[in-house]
Amino acid sequence: METDLSLKKNLYMPRTSVTTESNKTGSWRFLRPRYEEKTSPCSAACPVGEDIARIEMLITQGAFKEAWETILRENPLPGVCGRVCYHPCEGRCNRREFDTAIAVHTMERFLADTAVRNEMKPAMKRQSPKGKSVAIIGSGPAGLAAAWFLNMLGYESEIFEALPEAGGCCAGEFQPIGCRRRS
Ligand code: SF4
Repeated sequence: METDLSLKKNLYMPRTSVTTESNKTGSWRFLRPRYEEKTSPCSAACPVGEDIARIEMLITQGAFKEAWETILRENPLPGVCGRVCYHPCEGRCNRREFDTAIAVHTMERFLADTAVRNEMKPAMKRQSPKGKSVAIIGSGPAGLAAAWFLNMLGYESEIFEALPEAGGCCAGEFQPIGCRRRS
């Protein structure tokens, strides 16, 4: 019986042991991307650590209440920060390399104002009462935020203010800029 020796030679050709980079198509065929979750530069730059990428994603979907609630997880005063924060988040926005930074603090203000206008109530669960109360000195943004988070954690709080009206800096020097009092 006749054997086709040339065919047999091709069939039993050994695998090459040289690097895949000898492929003229490159070695990409054999590589897989590695998934890593990292904090976005804008969130890393935000003093209160808001989850800005998630907030933006929810806004694009028209989920304004959920976006507002996402802010509240880190910052109970978006209406204040959306006006007086010097927005370091925007200084670190990746979009700046392309055209211009996303107007994060404007989005924050929009969500806060939308929440007030629509009398939204956040669907956030408060932890069971701990039966303890905490004294807070000062009724400025930091004191009010502390009272909010203590309340979410199940603690009562009492705020002490030396000035005749509450609000701290928001009732004083910032007020003419953006935090005008409602009549
Ligand atoms: S504007 Fe808002 S999101 Fe930006 S840094 Fe200030 S608090 Fe954070």
